[in-house]
Amino acid sequence: MMQWSYDTLLKWGTNELTAHDVENAALDAWYLLEHIYGISRVDFLMRRSDSFDAAQMEKSTAYQALIRQRSEGFPVQYLTGSTEFMGLPFLVNEHVLIPRQDTEVLVETALSMMKPGCRLLDMCTGSGCIVLSLAKLGTVTWGIGADISEEALKVAERNRENLGLSQVKLVHSDLFGSVEGVFDMIVSNPPYIPTDDIEDLMREVKDHEPHLALDGSRDGLLFYRKLAEESGRYLVPGGSLLFEIGYDQGKAVSQLLDQAGFKDIHVKKDLAGLDRVVYAVKAAE
Ligand code: GLN
Repeated sequence: MMQWSYDTLLKWGTNELTAHDVENAALDAWYLLEHIYGISRVDFLMRRSDSFDAAQMEKSTAYQALIRQRSEGFPVQYLTGSTEFMGLPFLVNEHVLIPRQDTEVLVETALSMMKPGCRLLDMCTGSGCIVLSLAKLGTVTWGIGADISEEALKVAERNRENLGLSQVKLVHSDLFGSVEGVFDMIVSNPPYIPTDDIEDLMREVKDHEPHLALDGSRDGLLFYRKLAEESGRYLVPGGSLLFEIGYDQGKAVSQLLDQAGFKDIHVKKDLAGLDRVVYAVKAAE
């Protein structure tokens, strides 16, 4: 039997993932190593060539199993159970969408518009990444994260506890169904992929992430339509509404907000130069 060290195991993992065309092979192999052995980068650098003892040897089997799953297209974040968003740690599982870097554009835009004492609602909160990062980094006095999925809310609740955010409440609700209160800001990254386009998504996404979090109905705009119609009733005059959108939905979502009486409607691009966020303000009565 081969005598492993951190170094040889990591190299094996990287090669395995590379052979299966995994994009960030070296990084993913490292995340899985860190997850299984609970070692820091510094520990790794100091002990990288030491031969494994019996306990470490045993864990290498679990590592190899995760590398195999990753090779088959399982997202690394579901395998480690965690990810980073806005520099903060978030737990994830198959019941929530994996927080995306694209969504940080929404959070940054919201932070730049947020006033002190903000009462915030995050519709379709999933892992809670939006409402919780805004509460951690912004001036939120209280916030609600609403979702229709009880399983997603369990994940969000654990994230809320880990980040120590008692000003945030997680609510089980079908859109505004069980939401009460008035808000200074409403944010949402709702499901927005047209149903027929889901099969064209990357396999990693369509085979593993919850379709409930992706499917925006026939034209992808179902949730924007409902949220544009109903948000006005829950926002103070001058309050803001911000959506993450698909790259080709800027015009359509702006129009929906215009029809619903919102003003100062803007579209913002992501780092790739694609439309990613639409935001608007509720007109004073
Ligand atoms: N709000 C969560 C996120 O941005 C979940 C979004 C969703 O489920 N559509 O990751």
